[in-house]
Amino acid sequence: MLIHSESEISMVHDPANFIHTIYIEESCRDLPYVQEMIQKAGKVSIKTVAEQDFSRLQSGGYVKGLSKGKRNLLLTRNKGKFLKPCPATREYRCCDYQVLNIGMNCPMDCVYCILQAYLNNPWLSFFVNVEDLISELEEAFAREPDRIWRIGTGEFTDSLALDNLTGLSAKLVNFMALRKNSILELKTKTANIENLNNLDHGGNTIVSWSLNSPHIMAQEELHTASLQDRLAAASKCAEWGYKIAFHFDPIIYHDNWQQGYAATISQLFDQVPAENIAWISMGALRFLPPLKNIVKDRFPNCKIFYEEFIEGLDGKSRYFRSQRVELYQSVYGELVKHVSPKTCVYLCMESDEIWKEVFGYNPEQQGGLPAMLDKTVT
Ligand code: SF4
Repeated sequence: MLIHSESEISMVHDPANFIHTIYIEESCRDLPYVQEMIQKAGKVSIKTVAEQDFSRLQSGGYVKGLSKGKRNLLLTRNKGKFLKPCPATREYRCCDYQVLNIGMNCPMDCVYCILQAYLNNPWLSFFVNVEDLISELEEAFAREPDRIWRIGTGEFTDSLALDNLTGLSAKLVNFMALRKNSILELKTKTANIENLNNLDHGGNTIVSWSLNSPHIMAQEELHTASLQDRLAAASKCAEWGYKIAFHFDPIIYHDNWQQGYAATISQLFDQVPAENIAWISMGALRFLPPLKNIVKDRFPNCKIFYEEFIEGLDGKSRYFRSQRVELYQSVYGELVKHVSPKTCVYLCMESDEIWKEVFGYNPEQQGGLPAMLDKTVT
């Protein structure tokens, strides 16, 4: 087992280092939180901009601007809602997750990233009005005091990619620590865990990593932490008492995929204690149809979209059902060799039929997917 110290891990890779310019919306410039970030930004160029100038600065074509956009970070206010239900589809089994919107886009660059087809602004943004975010959470918790909240920040960005700059994770972990029946999930492909050390998290934060086969991680996940560094970070977080989770998503057909996923799973359980893992999800590659052309344009050598796909009930392209079952059965077959009986292994956005073929039961027979996940954390 290769053990890194936490400072070694965070030195390995920090996607915030790719940022070239930070643009600050002028009304936010004097906020103490923004001043803290300016201090941490070091030599990064800082510019103040008026809101009416955003679109002029960000013009030049969305797809063409994506690579450059990942180097420009806009610090601004979220004027809308921070907390929203995960945009799931009725036709598939969803897990009743709430998305906490902390900003948009990601400095890393996964070839298959669905955000490329989902967003319409190529820049990174981060919302600095964290007091409003906290007030909104307080109001939501007060409105439904008996509800179990599972909240994640990793839907429209990576939860920890900019954390060395923003320090947001500590604010959220400290806030959630005092809330009963509430779980915060920080989902990442980085090893940026330094800000999570020495926090009194109260067991209410899960730190999770998206994993893939070594080949996909090396070829299709640009600027992300290596498998070794993600697992070393997970092992450290487990030592600090955090619950851990993993997402095998997207599972992708490629040469020797069975061996690839088996190798990742074997390394995972070599490094992370099985009893610390709250949940593991599996989801086969699915994407909004326009993504295919965006990827063709940005990554002409990428082969993963050359398979045959069908359109699912949610309008997303997916592998044929028999292929999805084959992928899930193989990955699940490796997971069950190691997984703790307390860990919830589940499928993200799949039908009851697929659940039955993979696990032998559907979520309703276990009380429903939200209840299955709630049980692992309460
Ligand atoms: S880490 Fe996640 S959000 Fe960032 S580019 Fe990859 S898939 Fe997209």
